[in-house]
Amino acid sequence: MNDQPTLRDMPKRLYRATPTRLLAWLDCPRRYRFTYLDRPPPPKGPPWAHNTVGAAVHNALAQWWRLPREARTVIRSRALVTEYWSADGFRDADQAAQWHEHAQDMVERYVSGLDPDDEPRGVERTVSTIHEGVALSGRIDRVDERGAELVVVDYKTGRHVLGIDDARSSLALAVYAAAVSRTLRRPAHRVELHHLPSGEVVAWEHDDHTIARHLDRAAEIAAECEEADDAFRAGATGDEWFPPRPSPLCGWCDYRQHCPEGAAASPARAPWSALTPPATNHTPTSE
Ligand code: SF4
Repeated sequence: MNDQPTLRDMPKRLYRATPTRLLAWLDCPRRYRFTYLDRPPPPKGPPWAHNTVGAAVHNALAQWWRLPREARTVIRSRALVTEYWSADGFRDADQAAQWHEHAQDMVERYVSGLDPDDEPRGVERTVSTIHEGVALSGRIDRVDERGAELVVVDYKTGRHVLGIDDARSSLALAVYAAAVSRTLRRPAHRVELHHLPSGEVVAWEHDDHTIARHLDRAAEIAAECEEADDAFRAGATGDEWFPPRPSPLCGWCDYRQHCPEGAAASPARAPWSALTPPATNHTPTSE
């Protein structure tokens, strides 16, 4: 008798994906192909100013927590924004300078509400979990420790005001909760969106059932991605597998210049056009 394992006996290779990748597939298969499969990828359009603001704020907050306890001051938080600042995407030097200051204000206001002794369990922490043959991973802005549970904290710098539904329905946040729990071996059900421009915190308390539902959904999307990836490797690069999905959002797509359907669906946006003009009673915001 032949005891050699056959291909059918071999364990199936894990498909690896981040929530960002899965959501890119849902949003637009052509953009997914440009982003994750074409190598080299097509050149992107110019950088977005709102991404510059978001990156500087995220980096400053992460670095603030990495400082020694005595250095975690409000003043230092402003300096950190400067450390990570760039003028990418802004109309001109004046606009960049104005937004540099807005970003500093936003971080200062947020940090002034933090307790520097309240050490997070993780900052920009990469976590992963496995569900239905899919290895799901992601990097979380902050993981807090509250009682026996861990809490997923995601910073938002966009101009859109957030609601409970944004936290409840977020596939990424639910996957992160499951991944935090598995990686750090503590329960994690609460997910929070910290909207820096408004100072609002939007939270949702998952239970095991709602997290499992999100994980099932992630596995379903991953199965589609895996099939599309295989097709791409076999030479299928056209619309049959990777159709465009034109919408008004195409104006924000980094690959719009390579996509006639997307270009027809939405006018090109100036790189600074997602910045909201300063208001008198709150800090201006970026996407
Ligand atoms: S421009 Fe629109 S349709 Fe084209 S790749 Fe980007 S998101 Fe997809």
